[in-house]
Amino acid sequence: MNHDVIVLGAGLAGLAAARDLAAGGADVLVLEARDRVGGRVEQTALPDGRLVQLGGEVVGRAHTAYRELAAELGLTLVPSYVAEPGRMARATPEGVCAGDPPHWFGPGDEARHRRLTAAFTALAEGVDPDDPWSHPEAGALDALSVAGWLRMEGAGPAVVRLWEIGQLALASGSYERTSLLSALRKHAAVPGTGAREHYDYEDWEGLRVAEGSATVALRMAADLGPRVRTGAPVDRLAVRPGGCTVRLAGGETLTAGAVVCALPVGPLRAVAVSGVSDARLSSLHRQRQAVAAKFTAAYDKPFWRDSGLSGLSECEGVLGSTWPQNEGVLSALVPPERYGVLLGMPDALRTRELLADIARLYGEEARTPLSTHIRMWGTDPWTRGYVTQWLPGDVTAVGPLHGTHEPPFYVCGSDQWVAGYMEGAVRTGRAAAKEALRRG
Ligand SMILES: Cc1cc2nc3c(=O)[nH]c(=O)nc-3n(C[C@H](O)[C@H](O)[C@H](O)COP(=O)(O)OP(=O)(O)OC[C@H]3O[C@@H](n4cnc5c(N)ncnc54)[C@H](O)[C@@H]3O)c2cc1C
Repeated sequence: MNHDVIVLGAGLAGLAAARDLAAGGADVLVLEARDRVGGRVEQTALPDGRLVQLGGEVVGRAHTAYRELAAELGLTLVPSYVAEPGRMARATPEGVCAGDPPHWFGPGDEARHRRLTAAFTALAEGVDPDDPWSHPEAGALDALSVAGWLRMEGAGPAVVRLWEIGQLALASGSYERTSLLSALRKHAAVPGTGAREHYDYEDWEGLRVAEGSATVALRMAADLGPRVRTGAPVDRLAVRPGGCTVRLAGGETLTAGAVVCALPVGPLRAVAVSGVSDARLSSLHRQRQAVAAKFTAAYDKPFWRDSGLSGLSECEGVLGSTWPQNEGVLSALVPPERYGVLLGMPDALRTRELLADIARLYGEEARTPLSTHIRMWGTDPWTRGYVTQWLPGDVTAVGPLHGTHEPPFYVCGSDQWVAGYMEGAVRTGRAAAKEALRRG
């Protein structure tokens, strides 16, 4: 059957694109490999009705495309964990502390941290997030790692460690293996309210959808109805002006005037694509993702508050961080550098060992949750990652084709924005639909 547009992937990007295409009068079909929609946003309900987010969860006040979409869908944004009272905890092998400064800081480290934060944000002012390649020093900034730059600027090991624990708390790849240009680009995309922080939590994470972040995807899919087909993995795509052919893994073929590809970069590498320039394909195939797992533990109450703690932490265990996602529900991330440790554990030990990390932060009560969930996104065949990762040299290697289109082949997805995130999915999904509609 022929359609105006076929959208590959029913994550936030594909659904947002299809929603706008349908609203613009296009006959659109979304093909989704899994038997559910949402991709990297997924939720489950506890017996007591509390929703637990197993994937993407919070957004920030600077995430304008996502906020606009949530409002259109009639959903409510409320303050996230960032508004929680209490101090943040940090756990390393040699100690646990609450609040600032971290327990490994010595004399002069706070001043050095402040100086380097100001230097980083000042450097980011010269980077255009939509065209980082135009920076006069683009090649040199891309070749450097963030940690290498910190050392060059006199950070000292304690400050590098603070930046690194924060980066792994987000489950992004280590700053030892992150391009400085990519980090500056991310900051420039959401410059925040000042030079105080290089990752302003209000701007990036201060809000959440009260009805559950996965509800954003579920609501779009409900509105699209039969235009979304699940259990339909795509394995081949031939792009031709006036007629694209999409083949499903079972052999069925479908045709369309245009294709919007909203697949994560990992699974996309397994799809045989023809009729698109070599330069575009090698740019798309050159991108990579940091892998991560998400762990959630639901308790009857937020017991960490009794110790004056907010539930937010940065850790050097197998877990990289925890934060409260809902009343009594803790979220936690396993960063890419420690994903292998989790993979290597017998299933039966995983929950116990992750709860031990949480107990180290918040006490013995952490060992007896009502329920837990582990979601291994890094090795999920339809995700193969978590969030974009840019190693030194990657911004240059992926190049200015990043996030652009080659009609009738349109590209979107959080990997096509500066730094992943649900904002990246919605922003690029809607932009792809707009461009496809403009070209008719
Ligand atoms: C654990 C975790 C926590 C996160 N936390 C946050 C957060 O708090 N805030 C935030 O903003 N972001 C967060 N993110 C990131 C955010 O969830 C994602 O960036 C965003 O949801 C990606 O949307 P997408 O549509 O681009 O891709 P996806 O959601 O990955 O959607 C792609 C879709 O394509 C499908 N697909 C793959 N291959 C094929 C194929 N061959 N054929 C057909 N379909 C295919 C997949 O099944 C999937 O449904 C988190 C992600 C994870 C995993």
